[in-house]
Amino acid sequence: MQNKKETHAFKTEVQQVLNLIVNSLYSNKDIFLRELISNASDAIDKLRFKSQTDAKLLGDDTEFKIKIRPDGIARTLEVSDNGIGMTHEEVLENIGTIAKSGTAAFLEALEQARDGLAPELIGQFGVGFYSVFMVADKVTLITKAAGSDKAVKWESAGDGTFTIEETEKEGRGTTIILHLKKRQPDEPDYTDPWVIRRIVKQYSDFVAYPIVMDVEKEEPLPDEQIIKDKDGKPIGETTRRVIRQETLNSMKAIWSKPRDEVSEQEYEEFYKHLAHDWNPPLAHLHLKFEGTTEYDALLYIPSKAPFDLFQADRRHGIQLYCRRVFIMEDCKELMPEYLRFVKGVVDAPDLNLNVSREILQQDRLVINIRKNLVKKLLDFLAQMEPEKYETFWKQFGAVLKEGIYTDSLRKEKLAALARFRTTKSGDKWISLDDYLKNMPSDQKAIYYITGDDLASLINSPYLERLKAKDYEVLLMTDPVDEWVVQALTEYEGKPLKSAEKGDLELDREQKEASEQYKALFAFIKSQLADKVKDVRASVRLEDSVACLAGDEQDMSAYMEKILKASGQAAPSVKRVLELNVRHRLIEGINALYENDRNNEKLKQYTQLLYDMALIAEGGKIDNPSRFSRLVGDLMASALDHS
Ligand code: ADP
Repeated sequence: MQNKKETHAFKTEVQQVLNLIVNSLYSNKDIFLRELISNASDAIDKLRFKSQTDAKLLGDDTEFKIKIRPDGIARTLEVSDNGIGMTHEEVLENIGTIAKSGTAAFLEALEQARDGLAPELIGQFGVGFYSVFMVADKVTLITKAAGSDKAVKWESAGDGTFTIEETEKEGRGTTIILHLKKRQPDEPDYTDPWVIRRIVKQYSDFVAYPIVMDVEKEEPLPDEQIIKDKDGKPIGETTRRVIRQETLNSMKAIWSKPRDEVSEQEYEEFYKHLAHDWNPPLAHLHLKFEGTTEYDALLYIPSKAPFDLFQADRRHGIQLYCRRVFIMEDCKELMPEYLRFVKGVVDAPDLNLNVSREILQQDRLVINIRKNLVKKLLDFLAQMEPEKYETFWKQFGAVLKEGIYTDSLRKEKLAALARFRTTKSGDKWISLDDYLKNMPSDQKAIYYITGDDLASLINSPYLERLKAKDYEVLLMTDPVDEWVVQALTEYEGKPLKSAEKGDLELDREQKEASEQYKALFAFIKSQLADKVKDVRASVRLEDSVACLAGDEQDMSAYMEKILKASGQAAPSVKRVLELNVRHRLIEGINALYENDRNNEKLKQYTQLLYDMALIAEGGKIDNPSRFSRLVGDLMASALDHS
């Protein structure tokens, strides 16, 4: 069926990336080998995992290895593995596209960074394989999926197209043949065994499978093969050149080494291998537990959030090992969702090697390790130096906050880790503890407001009274904040209160005012019966005339927006029209009303008050042209009187 040679075009974004790579946006070309070795090692990991339930897959090829074969004369470099291999469909899916989840985001980033895409960006999209085009002008990939009897050959010169056809291959796995470019004067020779040894040592020493290379060695001839004269002196050769397989990496699992034997450089390279990230990590945490729950863990916090952090199907970052034997990647059971950005390795010697995911969830040991890891990670974050922590928070805060409503046991601890912008913070981030420290003595609650735009929140009319009283307000702009405030009703004994809902309990005067304006408010309410559920004297306005507020238990405007944006039916709640009884305008309208309850102007003013409240919160009014006509008329009559 697929024995014809097919030619395909690369997806546009792949070609864009290729161009960037080839025109050497990345100056360290050596890393192409690291990328190939990482892929090979992943492919073996995957096969091992699959073979736990399907032992036949391995056949008699049970010695996993990654083989490098340089050829200085043909100028080729081959990297092969006996891992899981790929089917025809998998080749099409994996090589020639960019990891699907990130594509849209990637294109956007590409678009924004037209002149000079930072190399760090590339690493985040799973485009590692394409780095081969930094050093090769043609690449051939031959692969045979474990359990399949068909092999596939993929070939490309990185010029916009690739070919794919059926081929023959002995044994499963993938072989990648790089046809190296003409060597630049200042470039290492990637067919030189010494160069290969150096690169493997530097970037891939810890890879768990042997990385081997055939090398020619000179060794002494066995005595009986040496020709000697009658005095026993050798005549002719005493040595011979032989091909020996050399293992280039130590395979030392760095997580099981004592901490003081691992250099920063090694920690960093291991992270890059593990996470397929080209950026160094922000921090690492190397843990060793002894006692009833024994395990080693090496955890990393990346320095940049991946683009798919909020996608439901994204992979988790923890690999599970048992006595240095890989068990599974993507081990969700070891890390709660709100720590899904953590990458690393957990090695638990007492684990049952044949665990399935289903069993894992109930495994006491796994549950204990998870509890332990979460505690250590949260303590680690709490002790991080402030500047670093802020970097962390900007990248991952929105994820960590999810824990406030999903992990009720650690709610307080997570709330203490949270950072906020406030009406007083400027461009700093403050903690709830800072907030409490700075609170005036008469302030009884922690005030917050939610919305998607910081600038409009700062200027929100809801905050006028609070600002006048010098109370600080948390400005919450992440969608998750809506859930955070539902779970976090108080902190250190102080209630959290929304500035846009309910009674702010600032002072009592509004109660009395309500009495005085009772009749007018009833009239306005009757006029706006289909839009608002009540009309009251405002507890939050200082300078503005009107706003729309919710009752304590009502959904916030931002929540309504989030639900609607995600396609969920949000009940449209009627809100309360709050009027500022300290404002001259309300006094004036009241006087007009008491004078002549049938004055036509009253209806117009009512409509205007409502529209003004909507505009102030950035909402859309029903009839903008009527609004501007009314305002125009009013301005004209004001001018008449001036
Ligand atoms: P990443 O490894 O970051 O996902 P790559 O571009 O390096 O991105 O590889 C794309 C995909 O191609 C991999 O996710 C994997 O599915 C597949 N792949 C690459 N190399 C191999 C290999 N040696 N064996 C099997 N599959 C491979």
